[in-house]
Amino acid sequence: MKTAIISDVHGNLEAFAAVCESIKQEHVDRIIFLGDIVGYGANPNECIEQLQSLTNYVVAGNHDWAAAGRQSSHAFNAFAAEALEWTRAELTRENTLFLMSLPLSLDMNELQGVHASPYMPDRWRYVFNAEDAEAVFVTFSHRLCFVAHTHCPVIFAKLDDAPVVRELPAMATFHPYGRYIINCGSVGQPRDGDPRASYGVYDARDKRYHLVRVEYDLLSVQKKIRLAGLPDYLAYRLSVGR
Ligand code: ZN
Repeated sequence: MKTAIISDVHGNLEAFAAVCESIKQEHVDRIIFLGDIVGYGANPNECIEQLQSLTNYVVAGNHDWAAAGRQSSHAFNAFAAEALEWTRAELTRENTLFLMSLPLSLDMNELQGVHASPYMPDRWRYVFNAEDAEAVFVTFSHRLCFVAHTHCPVIFAKLDDAPVVRELPAMATFHPYGRYIINCGSVGQPRDGDPRASYGVYDARDKRYHLVRVEYDLLSVQKKIRLAGLPDYLAYRLSVGR
């Protein structure tokens, strides 16, 4: 079973389309989406419709639930809050209901998928470093947990009782007795300093994982953000991957 893991599209249709094209070359059996299809970008409805045509394995991100009114946006920074308000007005009723209906966690044999953390996923806690990961490993039972939310690709590995190791490989083979928390980065708003769209592919047969980076038409996306009247910073940050 070969799985593509994508997340954090954030209304960036050009990045999403480029990633969908790239996934075709990977010949995967299924695609899982780990939340934040909307927020920040200028094409929320189009991205939701693209996602619906792609997969049913979808969890909610904090931006999805906030845009749907399922939770308050008081915890968001000023740019995110402004973009959420814009997104709410833009969403069709059907798409709002779709976002509202999304679950918090996917449970798929050896792997679990959540947007933020498997521990109380509706608190949207970040798993940034080995210390965060150490605390989280005791809260879930799967071998692999795919997370998103930070927009930074990373792997946290736990072997026996040894301390958690934080790694940044583009490619890895998982140990049969190891447990892992894996973040595949962000499709529509990478924040690891590389502006290319990011997603992951995991093959359960040989336990191999790799990260894929994809170029897309950044200038068109920035133009759309500015034309929509969204904060200019949201256009700027895409070109620096921060
Ligand atoms: Zn996000």
